[in-house]
Parts: sequence; structure tokens; C-alpha cells
Amino acid sequence: MSEDSGNSVDRRDFMISAIASAALATKASAANPQGTMPSSANTLPAVPQGTAYTGDVIDGKKVVSALDVNDLEPGQKHLLYFQGVEMPTGQHWYVSVTVAKGAKPGKRAVLVSGVHGDEMSSVHTVQTVMNQLEPAKMSGTVMAVTDVSRPAMESMQRRWPNSGRGMDLIDMNREWPGNENGATAPSRHAWLLFNRLFRPNADVAIDFHTGTTGFEVTAFNIAGMDVPEVKAMVELYPVGQIFDNHVYPGVLHNAFMDVGIPSFTPEIGAARVLDPTMISLFVEGTMNVLKHHGILAGPMGRTGKDVNVFVGNSAFPILATAGGVVEHLVKLNDKVVAGQKVAIQRNSFGEVVAEYTSGVAGEITGQRSDAMSEPGNPLVFILFNKATPESAEVYPE
Ligand SMILES: [Zn+2]
Repeated sequence: MSEDSGNSVDRRDFMISAIASAALATKASAANPQGTMPSSANTLPAVPQGTAYTGDVIDGKKVVSALDVNDLEPGQKHLLYFQGVEMPTGQHWYVSVTVAKGAKPGKRAVLVSGVHGDEMSSVHTVQTVMNQLEPAKMSGTVMAVTDVSRPAMESMQRRWPNSGRGMDLIDMNREWPGNENGATAPSRHAWLLFNRLFRPNADVAIDFHTGTTGFEVTAFNIAGMDVPEVKAMVELYPVGQIFDNHVYPGVLHNAFMDVGIPSFTPEIGAARVLDPTMISLFVEGTMNVLKHHGILAGPMGRTGKDVNVFVGNSAFPILATAGGVVEHLVKLNDKVVAGQKVAIQRNSFGEVVAEYTSGVAGEITGQRSDAMSEPGNPLVFILFNKATPESAEVYPE
């Protein structure tokens, strides 16, 4: 089943050296927290060309360990399983791949969801787009993957439960582009998906997310608006906010950007639930993007101009300073001014123990939805414009 079985002895040495270099990189970044990513993690591996069928069939779907959409029959939809990382049992995590291969050639778009396991509206957005596609009328290809972080999705949790050295919970959206010989399953899984599935089939890529469990966000896109190809796509979404920031390394859309593939991250409301209203906005925007690239024909739907989109380059975080129950005084998308009180917090006696005010003028992007909080939790994110934006901002995408 594994094409690597003949290389297992050689591979052991690679894995040992990968662990050693990761340890060195950790030391280096601790000494220099402003430093860039370790170069070993960014070394571009050779990308295998072509499609590799393992010979397995699961639920009637053929299994591939590498995919080139050019090998698939045009004018059809193809449902496949991609063979992801190997588990302790020796079996693999498979991910679901849907390819709408147009009758005519054209650009190739990749739609991803399920990098975090609790972000259901992102999955449903991608499925809805794919269900609307008619390959016979398309010029180009759309490939969708909806369950990247399978073990996280099985329990609808954000992080991948990795059992290699005791139990770690690993945020898969800090692992891209992955490492073939990485010390954790999510790192190796990311490498396999990025190099054998995503990158070889993407002219553009969109990685869909939502808020996280306990923290709800509005409808917005995270994108580097200084990149013209990205700006052109993001402006086609009829959603209220754009977070114009490159955020940090390790997220999937930045791994695409690092290899020259325009990419961004939509954020579609709360985790764990489906938000049909927001989903329809992102479906409309994504169909616009596919029209923009000539993959689909037809008139554009509504865009950012139709909703008077607010663009900010920074997210102002308000962190809890006390334990207690939080009461929000504003709603998502509300405009706030500097000094405005946005939340209070009460202790178990009902006494107010903290009052939280905005430090900036902007719009509410995200709010803690779990009512209780301990000190240090983010309570509110406010989208605003900073005169000199920081290059990378921490944001719980
Ligand atoms: Zn996410």
C-alpha cells in the first residue's frame, strides 16, 4: 500500500536529522524571537508529477497518493480519497477530494476547508460551491478538500490530537507547508497534502475558516491587499470586512503565497454551527472569483462594493484581566470609538470586576461567545487601521 516501503531505512536518517534541525531552530527562535522561519522548514522539496493511484478503493472512491488534475477526464466531477499521513496502526488518514474538471482547459482553483476541525460553515460553503458547478460548462478546474484535519474533525475540535509523545493538541494551521520527515503526524500530513495534492493543482487557492469554539467572528476575509491578484479576488466578496494583513507564517494561505500561488482566508462566523446567511455570501463571492478567472461564465453577483466593505489593517485585541462572566455591550460589526466601553465582567457575587474599553476606532470583528472567561482570554477583536501596521499579527483565524 505504501510507495515508501523500500525507502524506510533511508527515511529514518532523514527523520532524525529533521528532528535535530527542528530542535536547533527552536533554540535559534527562542534566542531571536523576531527571527524568520527556519530555512529547513521552507526547503522546497521536489514535487512529484502525475497521479498515483494506490489501487485501493474506499466506499467506491479510488484512492490517490498524488494527484494531477490534468490526468482526470474532462467535463466530469471526480470523487477521490487522498492518502494522508500514516497512523500508529499503520493505516492512513484519508481526506475527501472533489474535482470538477471543466470540459475546456483553464485556470485551476483549489478550495480548502477543515484545517480546523470545528469550523463547519467553511465546510458547507465549499460543498455548496462544488454542488453548483457544472463541469460540462466550465473552462478550468475546481478542486475541493473539506476534511484536511481528519482526527480533529472526528471530534469537531480545533486541534489535531497527536499521540506520538504523550498527547499533544496540534493546531494544523501553524504547520504549513509541512515537513515530510517532521516529528509529528500533522507536520507530515501537511507536507503530503501541500506537495502532492494542493500545490501541483493550484493557480489560486482559498482556505476557508470560521471563528473558533468559544470565540465568534463576523463574515470577513484575511488577505494581503498589497498583492494585486489577491486584492482582485477578495473585493469580489459581498461581506462586510477585510482584514488586510499577512498574519503569520505557518498558515495554509501563506504557504500558497510563499510559492507564488495567490491565496487568502475567508472567515465565516461561529464555529461548530452552520450560518446559512453568511455561507450564502461566501458562496456568492467564491462563484464571483471563479468567474473572474474565467472558469465559470455568467454575470458577477454582489461584491464588496455592494456592502460598503470596511477594510482594516490591524486587529485590536481586548484580553480579560479577571475571571468571571462577560457581558458584551456591543455586537459584531458595530462601529466603536476609542474609549468606548465594550464589555463588563462580573464575579460570582454579581459585582462588576472589570470594564473593557476599546483603545481604537474601528469595527467589531470577533467576540468571545463562551460567557465565562479567565484572565488572558481574548474577549473582543476590533478591526481598525494602524498608521504603521505590524508585518504579522496574531489572530485566532
Ligand atoms: Zn480556522
